[in-house]
Amino acid sequence: MTTLLTTTDVAKIVAAQGPRKVFEDLLDYLLADFLRWPEFDKSARVASHSASGVIELMPIADHDLYSFKYVNGHPGNPAAGLSTVMAFGALAQVSSGEPLLISEMTLTTALRTAATSALAARALARPGARSMALIGNGAQSEFQALAFHHILGIDTLHLHDVDPAASDKLARNLADVPGLRLRRFDSTAAAVRDVDIVTTVTADKAYATILTADMVEPGMHINAVGGDCPGKTELHADVLRAGPVFVEYEPQTRIEGDLQQMPADFAVTELWQVLTGQRAGRQDARDVTVFDSVGFALEDFSALRWLRDSALKHGAGTRIEVAPDLADPKNLFERVRARQAAARASQALLRG
Ligand code: NAD
Repeated sequence: MTTLLTTTDVAKIVAAQGPRKVFEDLLDYLLADFLRWPEFDKSARVASHSASGVIELMPIADHDLYSFKYVNGHPGNPAAGLSTVMAFGALAQVSSGEPLLISEMTLTTALRTAATSALAARALARPGARSMALIGNGAQSEFQALAFHHILGIDTLHLHDVDPAASDKLARNLADVPGLRLRRFDSTAAAVRDVDIVTTVTADKAYATILTADMVEPGMHINAVGGDCPGKTELHADVLRAGPVFVEYEPQTRIEGDLQQMPADFAVTELWQVLTGQRAGRQDARDVTVFDSVGFALEDFSALRWLRDSALKHGAGTRIEVAPDLADPKNLFERVRARQAAARASQALLRG
């Protein structure tokens, strides 16, 4: 039998543990997997593009577990009452192929993306960073804010969104977080002034330029989350030239990240290399560091492992028969025969 987790189930798990514990635990799962990067069978995700967005499949496996996520990105969706990003995924046993878990991954993507951003910033941002600009205040934004607050100790957030209602919503949702100060700004340039970290998490299927080099100050860490698909960027190319650029999985980021604007020989470092100590991260307090995040399958693999363990701990989810539970695994037809017999019996009953 397979465990099914709905968005309500995942929300219950998050509520039971509280966001701090959730982000701390997710970070542990992510770090454990990033540290054993070479053990994974990796590939860039498979994307199906349309005029309004993209639908992607993200598979990955190690020797024990296989996972995939289905995820879309349709920036026009909120106007039609749908989320920009919606996702679900599965975890299966490599040795047998048995599906262990099927889960919603819309909420889970927001959690794992924020946890990955915080993991990267913990390794790359200036020590003692306390302030962050959050450009784009949509569905992902509260999760980014809370992960940076709980993991890095960010206590001051500068908010900006072209849609003031989005910033209103964020301010309402985070109004009661102790020790987190929120300030609103009417432009990106004003919001990023004098902050330690800039997170861009906007949605527009366009070569957008949210952040330009003149807005970048020495020592800043840029956490660029929203440029994650061909033809969809947030950073001016000069921002990437301003400092060392760090990515999740280089072959995928070359196609999808802000990096798509740069020549093929533009040097980048994969995050796992910094986390394992093989490559340097920030070398000086005045360095500008850029995390060009697009979201990689390994992060979903870690999140699904965390969900499986959390579901067990909290007794969450429903056991469903996705793969048939057969007395004789070769006798699949028995299922059809049994239903046919049942249907015949109920018809005979109706006929009297
Ligand atoms: P959303 O549609 O809920 O929110 C996006 C917000 O950006 C909206 O409120 C919109 O008004 C604002 N915005 C658009 N253009 C802007 C601009 N020029 N300046 C300021 N604000 C602007 O989307 P979401 O679910 O929050 O996702 C945000 C982005 O993050 C999307 O592009 C999505 O594809 C991406 N994303 C990346 C990852 C990753 O792992 N890197 C994971 C999830 C989502």
